[in-house]
Amino acid sequence: MQDSIISRCEAKGLRMTEQRRTIARVIGESADHPDVEELHARASAVDPRISIATVYRTVKLFEEAGILERLEFGDGRSRYEDAERDHHDHLIDVTTGEVIEFVDPEIEALQEKIAARLGYRLVGHRFELFGRPVRKG
Ligand SMILES: [Zn+2]
Repeated sequence: MQDSIISRCEAKGLRMTEQRRTIARVIGESADHPDVEELHARASAVDPRISIATVYRTVKLFEEAGILERLEFGDGRSRYEDAERDHHDHLIDVTTGEVIEFVDPEIEALQEKIAARLGYRLVGHRFELFGRPVRKG
C-alpha cells in the first residue's frame, strides 16, 4: 500500500496544519481529477473554515513537493491527482469533459523507443487524447 499524502508531506518536512491535513485527506480519497474549486467543495464539506485560497496554496505546495501531479485538459483549469497513483494516461471526452483513464503497453513501449532513438532514457511522459464519442447504431 502506498504511503498516504499526509505521511509523504511529513517525510518532506512540510508543516501540516489541520486544514492542510483535511485537504490532503480529501485528495487521497478522490479517484477522479478534481480542480481547485471541486477540491474546495469537498474540503469545505469536512471543514467549512477552509477557504478556496487555502486550497489553492495547499495544492501548489503539494505540487511543488512532487506529491501531486497537475493535469491540463485543455479547458484552462488545472486538475490534480496523487502523483503516486499507478501510471495511466487520459482520454478526455470533449463533449462532456469526462476523463477516462487507460494504460496501453504498446504506447508505453513506443514512447521508450522514440526516446531511445533520440538518445534519451525516458523518465516521464504526458499523453492525453481528446475525443468525441462515436455514435453507435
Ligand atoms: Zn488520472
